[in-house]
Amino acid sequence: MDDSWETDRSCSKISDSETLQDKNGNEDEPSLPLREFYPYIRCALCTGFFIDATTITECLHTFCKSCIVKHFFYSNRCPNCDIVVHQTQPLYNIRPDRQLQDIVYKMVPHLEEAERQRMCAFYKNRGLVMPKPVAVPSILPTKPLKQKDMMPQSVFTIPPELDVSLMLEFVGAENGIENYKPLERKYVRVSGEATIRHVELFIRRKMELSPNLQVDVVCGEHILQQRQSLREVRSTMGKNALQDGMLVLQFGLVLPGQ
Ligand SMILES: [Zn+2]
Ligand SMILES: [Zn+2]
Repeated sequence: MDDSWETDRSCSKISDSETLQDKNGNEDEPSLPLREFYPYIRCALCTGFFIDATTITECLHTFCKSCIVKHFFYSNRCPNCDIVVHQTQPLYNIRPDRQLQDIVYKMVPHLEEAERQRMCAFYKNRGLVMPKPVAVPSILPTKPLKQKDMMPQSVFTIPPELDVSLMLEFVGAENGIENYKPLERKYVRVSGEATIRHVELFIRRKMELSPNLQVDVVCGEHILQQRQSLREVRSTMGKNALQDGMLVLQFGLVLPGQ
């Protein structure tokens, strides 16, 4: 994910002096300054114009796809209105908004071309083959569409077996422990079959811990046992261990016992 085009890009900025172009050359109609439209065509997360406009189905707020996907690494709430987008899997409840993106590209001169060039450069610099654009069928289906079919497909599909969302909170390291990397992604989706041992291994790998260090994983007041499964922890700890539907586990680094 970290090396993908989607999460790498930063939104394009176009100067404030740009005005909405009148494509028909109609001089009777005054052209409105582009900034009048800013509230509808700019992303609150990066303040650039929408790129791959993506709308949250629960509140209809729109962001760049890469901006909202990154935001959901850390939160399951809408950055605008703070509603819980989905208890555990907010990516389920976002949809591409192609009409809005088309409008943005029509309104903001050169944005589409600049974005295309940036994307080409991204792939070229990494020696990657640029993915082909997704083909949009040009012939409409003959049978009438049901309401359900009209909804664009979810941007991502998450395998249903990854049924537990974990939030890992680092509470600190014992004095004398220094060499470790910070845990960058606190939120992880895992199968409820996974055990505390798996969580520990994940932490060890991500933080590049020396094997002699001990990792204590805690939920509420309880130190968890390595063999306990996450499903078990979730059901024994009950609601107190949950925050916005995520199972909250704390962990600390301890020097090996004498
Ligand atoms: Zn954005
Ligand atoms: Zn919202």
